[in-house]
Order: sequence, then structure tokens, then C-alpha cells
Amino acid sequence: MDPGHSPIILWFRRDLRLRDYPALTAAVRSGRPIVPVFILDDQVQALGAAPKWRLGLGLEAFAKALDQIGSNLILRRGTALRVLKDLIHETGAGAVFWSRAYDPKAINRDKHIKASLNEQGIEVRSFAGHLLFEPWTIATKAGQPFRVFTPMWRSVSGRDVAMPEPTPARIAKPDLWPASDRLSDWNLDRDMQRGATIVRPFVRPGEAAALDQLDRFLENIDHYQEARDRLDQVGTSDLSEYLSLGEIGPRTIWHRVQNADRTGSRGGEAFLRQLVWREFAYHLMYHWPHLLTDNWKPEWDAFPWNTDPDTPEVRAWKLARTGVPLVDAGLRQMYVTGRMHNRARMIVASYLTKHLMTHWKIGADWFAECLIDWDPAANAMGWQWVAGCGPDAAPYFRIFNPETQRERFDPHSTYLKRWIAEGRSDPSPTARAYFSAIPRSWGLSHEDSYGAPVVGLKEGRIRALDAYETRKVPV
Ligand code: FAD
Repeated sequence: MDPGHSPIILWFRRDLRLRDYPALTAAVRSGRPIVPVFILDDQVQALGAAPKWRLGLGLEAFAKALDQIGSNLILRRGTALRVLKDLIHETGAGAVFWSRAYDPKAINRDKHIKASLNEQGIEVRSFAGHLLFEPWTIATKAGQPFRVFTPMWRSVSGRDVAMPEPTPARIAKPDLWPASDRLSDWNLDRDMQRGATIVRPFVRPGEAAALDQLDRFLENIDHYQEARDRLDQVGTSDLSEYLSLGEIGPRTIWHRVQNADRTGSRGGEAFLRQLVWREFAYHLMYHWPHLLTDNWKPEWDAFPWNTDPDTPEVRAWKLARTGVPLVDAGLRQMYVTGRMHNRARMIVASYLTKHLMTHWKIGADWFAECLIDWDPAANAMGWQWVAGCGPDAAPYFRIFNPETQRERFDPHSTYLKRWIAEGRSDPSPTARAYFSAIPRSWGLSHEDSYGAPVVGLKEGRIRALDAYETRKVPV
């Protein structure tokens, strides 16, 4: 086939959308037939239970969206390079396009694939799309990557962000569609069997739902600044799961927020700042890939953290039965809805890494199992930030006190009532739902009495500070 007219394979990864998607725009502009494909490779297989289940819902929605504009999502399982080579052979494709990923495993995989396909004479093009700013385009005045958030925010907040590209009306299809797996055969919900029915009502997958969620949020953006920390209010955008799977593009959000925030409330600016925290996480992961696996500050390696994921204390934390109501409430919100309020994430992470003196990686792995908005960079950065060993981190001696946090951010115990059932004659449906969502083997019931803290707030704080003092970790 004439390479100028041969099909383009468009390899979708964490970018399940049609709008604001440069790789797709370039493929459509070429006028060539497009074969959209999603590959279940070992990197997808390695996802935790909740993100993998959520991916399945996203793929289902995305396949429908493609169908509506005359295209099709081809599903294939196997090593990405092998699958792409097979598809090239079957379709006569002359090019493969994708949107860049930034985690070290994906970068290595993609480099290898690019080199191998180029050798075969196949054009390979990678595009921006997942981020507002490519990590290598941002640097300090000295030309170094940013280690601290605020200077990075100052450096990017005034930049021009390209306008998002519109959804194409049609996507040219190949003469013959290659065979596709059936999504249901992939069993992406396998590890979520019990929890899935509970979490499902809290999830509206897909690009259309993401754009709708953005619209809803923009109506209240003026209040974002005051409400974003309140556990008892709906003050944030709930866009993280869409951003994580690329069901909405960050450029779309950036421009819609700029246009919506005309009242001078500064809600828009506060929100864009948070969006840039996401960019900061990717910037860090790109420049220091060990962010995902090891203490970003190596001087923390000698800190006497517990590294056993099966101690009774860690188990109590995972079961959301620490006896500290706000900590348990956050963990239960995650189990029932697949998400957790940002303030609660900080509180549960602080309790694990400080009061329980447990390594942040154990908590990060649990989040990777349970969060439907799991994101490698934001999760690792969030944990390292709270633990004290990350870039621009909260100092270790700043230990969240869940009681004081409740007084400030849940003054009427609304959030606690929503998530804690024990000790209440008529617990809320959400608080009960936790006991339906967890595996039976955990042996918990809402009629159990609520225990004392596995580690008391004062005692845990003193223990953590003593260890910190003894270690004298430089900050
Ligand atoms: P909004 O307040 O509406 O913010 C808008 C968007 O900005 C978010 O959707 C998110 O993409 C980004 N954002 C906001 N805060 C942060 C932040 N602190 N760091 C990075 N990006 C941010 N976020 C994830 O998307 N996935 C994770 O796996 C994840 N794990 C975390 C673990 C810990 C221990 C902590 C402290 C934070 C973690 N975060 C994670 C960041 C943050 O908690 C969530 O992004 C936020 O709660 C999502 O809710 P929202 O969309 O309503 O946020």
C-alpha cells in the first residue's frame, strides 16, 4: 500500500477521549484511515483492582463514542510491540501515533517500540496531550527542573496554553477492520467482584460525563477557594478520575476555567493552581523517576519506618478500623466511592506514616489498589509530600491531628456521620455501604463496637517526633 495513504494505528493508552487530543487531530488531518487500538499489555495488567475496573468502564464508554463517529476501538491483548506489529501486518498500516506517557516503564517501552518499528520503516509519532506543559519545557532560571511548587506555578501560570482541538465529526475507517477481543473477556473487573456493585453508582465514566462534570463544577467555581478543604461540602471538581484516564484533556479545563472565572473571586486561580500540582507531580516523576519507588530524599532511607505491610496496626489502617474516626472515615470513603477527599488523603497518610511510623510506599500501594482516580505521579508525590521525604514536602514534624482537622474541616461531623456506622442506631446508607463493599473475609459488621485507637494521637505523635529527632533527618 502507498505509505502516504496507508492506515494510521492510533494507540490509545491513558487518553480515552476525542476532544483536545493532538494525536487524533494529526491523524484525522492526514486524511488517512485510522485504526484505534487499546492494548492490554503487562503494564495495564499490573493496575490495581479499582483502577483496572474503572479502566474497563472507560473503555466501554470510549468504544461507544468512537462508534458514534463511524469508527471502532480494536482491543488486543499481549506485548505492545508484538500486537502493533501484528496489526501493521494485518491492516497494512504505515504509521503508529500515540499520546505520550511519562512514567519510566512506559517511557522505556515506548522508546523500544519506536526504535523497533522505525527499523521496519514504520513512521512513529508521539504527541503531547496528557499534560498542559511537557516536563522538559519547564525549568528554573538556572535551567534545572523545579523542586519546589510555587516557583514552578509562577513560571507557568502566565504561559499561553494552546486551545483544545475540537472533536472530529468523522474518523476515516480502514477498508477492513482487524479482529478485536471482546472487552468482557478481559475481566478487568475480576478483582472488584464484591465492591464493584457498591462503587458503580458513584461512577459516571466517559468523556461526555467528564465534560458535564466540568460544567457543573464551573457553576460553583467562585466558592472553590473556601470550600476545597471542607470535608462536609462538595467543594472540589471531582475531575481526577477523568484526568487520570484522559477522558478530559487538561487544556480544555484550563481554558474553560479562565473563561468562567470572571467574578474576581480567585476561585479559578486557586483551582488552576491545583491543576498545576498535577503538572508538578509529572514534572517530578519525569526528572526523578525514583519518586515512584524510593524516598525522593535519599537521606530518609535510614529512617526507622515500619516496612512490614502485615502488622496489626497496618492491617487496622487498611480495614479502616484504626479507632480514629476521621482516618477511618477517609479510608471508607475510598472503599465505597473509589475516591477520597484531598484533605482526608493527607490525614490518613499522615496517620500511617507518622502515628503508625509506616513506610509511605505501603500506603501508596493500598491507594493504587483502591482509588478509581489512581495516578502514578500524583499518588507518589502526595504520599512523599505527607511523609516528609518528598520534594517540597510538609516537614516531618508537621503531624496532622485528626481531631483538630475535624473541628476545622468537618465542624458538624457531617463527614463522620456519612462514613462511620458503628455506635449509631440508624447509620447512614453510605456508612453501611462500607460493610457491603468489603470482602466477607474481613469479618466486620456495622454492629461491631468501635474500638480505641490502635495508636493514640498523643502517643503516636511523641513516638514519631522522637524517632525524627534521633534520626535528625535534614530537611
Ligand atoms: P480538585 O481540587 O478539583 O483539583 C482539580 C485537579 O487538580 C484534580 O482532579 C487533580 O488532577 C489535580 N490536583 C488537585 N490536587 C492535587 C495534588 N495535591 N496533587 C496532584 N494533583 C492534584 N490525585 C490523583 O489524581 N490520583 C491519585 O492517585 C492521588 N493520590 C494522592 C495521594 C495522597 C496521599 C495525596 C495527599 C493526594 C493524592 N492525590 C491524587 C491528589 C488529590 O488528593 C486529588 O487529585 C484530588 O483529591 C482529586 O479531587 P478533585 O478532582 O475533586 O480535585
